[in-house]
Amino acid sequence: MRPREDTLIFRRSRMASPVKRLGRSLVLIAIGVLALDQLALQGLMTPIVVTSGSMFPTLRGLHWKSHCPRCGRELLWDAAWGEKRTTLIRAVCPVCGKRWAEVQPGESAKAPPVSQHSGDRILVFRGLVRPVQRWDLAAIREQNMPGLVVKRVVGLPGEKVFVKAGLLYCNDVPMRRPLPVQWEMARLLTRCGNEDGQGLVLSADGVDKKSAEWVYSRRLTTFCPYHPAADQAERLCTNVLWSVFLAQAAPGTAFVMSARFGDYGIEVTWSAGEHPSVAWRILGPEKRPLFQGRRELPGTIPRRIVLSSVDRRWMLLMDDMGLFTHDWDDDGSPKDAPVVLRLTVTQGEIRLREMGVWWVVPYPDGLIADAGDGFVLLGDDPHISLDSRQGGRRWRREDVVGLVRPLRLVWGRWSP
Ligand SMILES: [Zn+2]
Repeated sequence: MRPREDTLIFRRSRMASPVKRLGRSLVLIAIGVLALDQLALQGLMTPIVVTSGSMFPTLRGLHWKSHCPRCGRELLWDAAWGEKRTTLIRAVCPVCGKRWAEVQPGESAKAPPVSQHSGDRILVFRGLVRPVQRWDLAAIREQNMPGLVVKRVVGLPGEKVFVKAGLLYCNDVPMRRPLPVQWEMARLLTRCGNEDGQGLVLSADGVDKKSAEWVYSRRLTTFCPYHPAADQAERLCTNVLWSVFLAQAAPGTAFVMSARFGDYGIEVTWSAGEHPSVAWRILGPEKRPLFQGRRELPGTIPRRIVLSSVDRRWMLLMDDMGLFTHDWDDDGSPKDAPVVLRLTVTQGEIRLREMGVWWVVPYPDGLIADAGDGFVLLGDDPHISLDSRQGGRRWRREDVVGLVRPLRLVWGRWSP
């Protein structure tokens, strides 16, 4: 009896104190604000505004914003690069491929308005509270240059770094970007949502005359629509993030998610029913399975599924829990084939809350750098970034001023 009573008393006392909790929160917020203020005054934490697009899409510099006249998607173009008219005339919508030149900006009533926006605000934490790690965003002081430059750390002291077929190697070991970094560097390609409250319904029998299958097929290249005025060498790319939010699944539902790049691909089968499970197969030419696995699921059907193919590594996540990873070598190159994503319901029915496909920029080949006792740094956008790609440049430890936290990322950009 005793423990039970204790529990009840504890619950009551917690429930009776909303005012106290509010008071405590207010005091904590006040202390927080004062602390932030003090840090800023002492220069430990410096707010700065990004002026260049070399860290796009993680950080945006001064940019133009509009909406695609065909698909309505938001479009961004670097305003610090090239003259406005030239830039817009050469701009292409990354989602539907509409050329801005066909719209004649400023001359036609069809042209959506273009507005200019300042760069992202970021915080630089000076004094390095912890050692610099790979994938950190570092603020560095450039010799003979005012202000600070922000780049991503890819090579640590003592490492020899190179990029081959879009993959980064440090001392001959492939370094694949962790998922949070993949999300930071991801650009949205397509998204279907649930604006009408109905959601996207996929059914094995077909519901509301909608197909039971959703297919996305595109030839993904390294073309960068953010810098349309820059000369670009296009290359095929397989770096895709595919996120599916499920709102509902009928009992006994089974569905298949597959991704194919030319001859190679993956097939993931989700089954509800009595023993919910997920099974995956990595496929080679002629759909020959190269690798396969299966896992029982604790619940029925997950709420969110993420399939990543970034840096030649398959990752499957369910409600942010990793189900498996599988690395592949150069043999999985897509040649000339498009990226094909397919979601098929084979039994029952699913209702999606939201689904999106993102593209993650690959590292361009050609980088060879020796960090020495310093760091190898890269901008997230290889099209215009001046970094270690230029002559294998490295930065000394004393040039690193601090680590950067983009406010946009702190405030929940990671909820795509
Ligand atoms: Zn478009």
